[in-house]
Amino acid sequence: MFWMIFTLIAIIVYGLIFGSFINAVIWRIHQQDVSSSLGLKSKQENNSKNKVSLSIISGRSICPNCLHILSPRDLVPVFSWVILRGKCRYCKTKISWQYPVIEILTAVIFAGYYLFWPYTLIGYGLILFILSLLIVVGFIALAIYDLKWFILPSRIIYTTLIFIIIYRLVLILWQHQVLSSLFNIFWGIIIGGGLFYFIYLISKGKWIGYGDIRLGALIGVLIGGPLDSIIFLFLASLLGSLVSIPLLVFKKYHKDSIIPFGPFLILATFIIQLFGVVIIHFAKNYYLLP
Ligand SMILES: [Zn+2]
Repeated sequence: MFWMIFTLIAIIVYGLIFGSFINAVIWRIHQQDVSSSLGLKSKQENNSKNKVSLSIISGRSICPNCLHILSPRDLVPVFSWVILRGKCRYCKTKISWQYPVIEILTAVIFAGYYLFWPYTLIGYGLILFILSLLIVVGFIALAIYDLKWFILPSRIIYTTLIFIIIYRLVLILWQHQVLSSLFNIFWGIIIGGGLFYFIYLISKGKWIGYGDIRLGALIGVLIGGPLDSIIFLFLASLLGSLVSIPLLVFKKYHKDSIIPFGPFLILATFIIQLFGVVIIHFAKNYYLLP
């Protein structure tokens, strides 16, 4: 019991740190994309006093407003934001509440993965658990990026794909089921990516974006299997409708406004990964599935 609580706290701390990493990465990728798509020099490059390289992973964090390099005490997840009351220490510009929220969200999902992890936490099970958390980081970054800017950036998609492929390989090593794994991955891509491609074609890209096809295929590789993939699609659509119908009814959105679908796909993925076995068992018990 002691070890479980101790591990849980450690997982939450890791979640906060990775949440902070997600904040930094999505901001940097967005800065690069904006400056390259506009063909303009970014604010950082124009400012000769503060030559800040916009590398995505390395490099010190800066305040986007005053470009002051942040010290470690400004970068403690959640706590820095609370202590500084949501303002930059140097120029007092407001720092978005989204930063601590993304950190807490990541920590909560990490904790959920620990508490509801369907495999063991030793040997191969532990390797899969750690890989899952890295995949979760990629997925949260994608969901936030999609919510904020309606794009699923290639760089995050491909990085996440690498972790998913390693995850799949470890699973094959563990369970020694090469053929059935390849069969599952095949159906995952066909159902996850193919359906969205079909919707994309018939709606001429109006209902969903091209990025959703790639994300669907990516999730298909992770989840795999015809049954799991179909439940995943059903769950994602259900979550999407539960959120978008009230928005449409209360005229927050109208028919033609974009509702990013990525976050729903990702939320459904988390649910399937942790509770897929339970859901399938339940559905079979009630004759909802053959
Ligand atoms: Zn500042």
